[in-house]
Amino acid sequence: MVNSHNAADLIALEDRRGAHTYKPLDLVVARAEGVWLWDVDGNRYLDCISAYSAVNQGHRHPRIDAAMRAQADRVTLTSRAVRNDRLPGFLERLTDACGFEMAVPMNTGVEAVETAIKLARRWGYRVKGIAHDRAEIVVFSNNFHGRTTGVIAASSQDEYKRDFGPFAPGFVTVPYGDADALERALSPNTCAILIEPIQGEGGVIVPPDGYLKRAWALCKEHDVLFMADEIQTGLGRTGTLFACDHDGITPDVLIVGKALGGGYYPVSAVLASAALLGLFEPGSHGSTFGGNPLGSAIAEAALGVVLDERLAEKSRYAGAKIVQGLRAIASPLVKEIRGRGLLIGIELTVPARHLSEALLARGVAAKDTHENVLRIAPPLVIDDDAIALLLKAYEEAVLSLS
Ligand SMILES: *Cc1c(COP(=O)(O)O)cnc(C)c1O
Repeated sequence: MVNSHNAADLIALEDRRGAHTYKPLDLVVARAEGVWLWDVDGNRYLDCISAYSAVNQGHRHPRIDAAMRAQADRVTLTSRAVRNDRLPGFLERLTDACGFEMAVPMNTGVEAVETAIKLARRWGYRVKGIAHDRAEIVVFSNNFHGRTTGVIAASSQDEYKRDFGPFAPGFVTVPYGDADALERALSPNTCAILIEPIQGEGGVIVPPDGYLKRAWALCKEHDVLFMADEIQTGLGRTGTLFACDHDGITPDVLIVGKALGGGYYPVSAVLASAALLGLFEPGSHGSTFGGNPLGSAIAEAALGVVLDERLAEKSRYAGAKIVQGLRAIASPLVKEIRGRGLLIGIELTVPARHLSEALLARGVAAKDTHENVLRIAPPLVIDDDAIALLLKAYEEAVLSLS
């Protein structure tokens, strides 16, 4: 037993009894609301991590909270062995909002990615006519699609793969942002490309203008599915509902997760046409928890908040304001500030962990991604006062490191 209020004890217990699969900031959160976190000692921090975009709506949004509590009083889990009265409404809201005919509900993001991979291969064999077990999916250097053994086979990062082989075949990696390389990689056996419209974990990498459009056109030309992983970039994060909207493209397969659960519960989904999703027949895919009534009620409310509160517009406005403010603070440590909406990356000439810790000491929680990049991604409900606080803390933090 530990004193549950003592940060040092809690950290020691976690490190003693839990596998060290993360290197978290030593901020022990005890409470959260909106854009704010409080540690066990009652200190307040501005959350610029947002659980990697899973709390776009802000922590404990009252509308999502009410939906979760109301549903918890009725029924929470049924499995898909029977039907439940919440899944249909959730599916309708999701497909209408995203502009697709159908969806498959899953739980975590990586399960939705796995679902998309299965769908693409099925389509490759049954529709495109690829020879049995020969289907290839083109993926991109520096990608992040999750951590299952299937999905890390698609990774180019040694850190995610080292000593976890053998890896499933069927993935071809090309450099992100290079349309000519993509064109060369497409073969008669290619069933799909799997792409992040902005690479979040990869260091907030925004591809060159026109790249996604060209990639989409190449897919059409070569009879290949364009599958967008918008688990991190979707649901308002980049200033539009989906990051693909910036380029005016509609993917054949859209993968969503994270903020779909409104910060309460893991809910993910794969969206596509009825013709594509019709390739799954009973028994071909499933999940005990996918589409459960509690998750469906939460996700329906979470989507409602994104749309009704115009969080994409808020993200565009707040993101522009933050980027402008950050750029006005000159520092030799800063190489580049980039991003879209409230997915902002600050590339430094020093390890980003230093800036992350200097910010934490000034009441801002922001995390390094990829050695030299600090990601600034607050909940989309951030207001002008919180933006001012962020910019002031950033100015002091970069000064302290110079
Ligand atoms: C987080 C993330 C995933 C994996 O989602 P989990 O819920 O952690 O399984 C997949 N793709 C992208 C782009 C992500 O950011």
